[in-house]
Amino acid sequence: MTGVELSALTKDYPGGVRAVDGLDLAVPDGAFFALLGPSGCGKTTLLRTIAGLETATSGTVRIGDRDVTRLPPGRRDVGMVFQDYALFPHMTVADNIAYPLRIKKAPKDERRAAAAGVAESLGLAGLLERRPAELSGGQQQRVALARAMAARPAVFLLDEPLSNLDARLRLEARTFLKKLQHELGVTTLFVTHDQAEALAMADRIAVMETGRIRQVGTPAEVFRRPANLFVASFIGSTPMNLVDARVVNGLVEAAGARLRPPVRVEDGAPVVFGVRPEYLDYSPAPVDAAFHGRVVVIENLGTSSLVTLETEGGAPVRVVVPEDAEPRPGDEGWASPRPGRSLLYREGELMTDD
Ligand code: ATP
Repeated sequence: MTGVELSALTKDYPGGVRAVDGLDLAVPDGAFFALLGPSGCGKTTLLRTIAGLETATSGTVRIGDRDVTRLPPGRRDVGMVFQDYALFPHMTVADNIAYPLRIKKAPKDERRAAAAGVAESLGLAGLLERRPAELSGGQQQRVALARAMAARPAVFLLDEPLSNLDARLRLEARTFLKKLQHELGVTTLFVTHDQAEALAMADRIAVMETGRIRQVGTPAEVFRRPANLFVASFIGSTPMNLVDARVVNGLVEAAGARLRPPVRVEDGAPVVFGVRPEYLDYSPAPVDAAFHGRVVVIENLGTSSLVTLETEGGAPVRVVVPEDAEPRPGDEGWASPRPGRSLLYREGELMTDD
């Protein structure tokens, strides 16, 4: 069992910055787990505190069945890959990969064989005698991974491992990393500020804001049912429509539309109606229970368009429209939420029927 468990973990920096704030988190054994959040929310600090590169101010870090809170990094059984890969420039690829084994004082033959084996599995076999400066960004990233893997740690910690790659390599590296993690089955935490990357790669995501976790769930859960307005506005390539609303005679009045509430809610309640642009159906003719407005902006998404309607209530509502039904600026349009796809928030939190 090599899951990671954090209890009431807090990290204060000198000067009164609380970067991690009483955080509880359980990362199951073998999970590919993303720590996602905006810049400065404490992701890197959290990862470094798990690795032992920062000392927790209070709370505990457990790896498997061991309390490692007060152990130095070398005794925590973690392998960390940094944003800049931190390869040794004067060493060859082979020596870089074998480095953790040298620290562990493994015999030379064993180090060579292990480095060659890991290099083979990461497609680096032909590059063992090169130095980091002679490699592409993607190759450097794989050497950094290989170095972390060579020591066979119980847990991998990856800090923005793809951020140095260009857009195309990044997509390839996503697939590669996901496949590799699946094959190795090693518990892996990776930090990213890129929600699309977290959704694509992780099997579970923790969304962070100012040192705290706002939601933990599968990519589908955080995308479809964000637990609060912070997560709702953070997740999704096209932001969710979040419209201030009020409940009148059992219906939600939002931006001039009268909509069926997705949960039980009493009259008079101030709420926020949430629906993703992908979950609205566009119509050029009037339909019931729909937002109505004038098309003001059309953005091309390739096989579809993102259309902004300016509603009677004044609030903009965005809707994804398939390429064959493209409206024009100035057109009147209606956008109706698909059944089961809209959400209500009250005081910032998702409302449910339980
Ligand atoms: P980014 O995505 O920009 O790397 P992050 O989510 O990883 O951000 P951290 O780097 O963990 O965030 O920083 C969390 C908070 O702690 C920030 O307010 C940051 O300014 C502060 N901080 C980070 N390192 C230190 C330090 N060594 N001393 C004091 N404050 C720090």
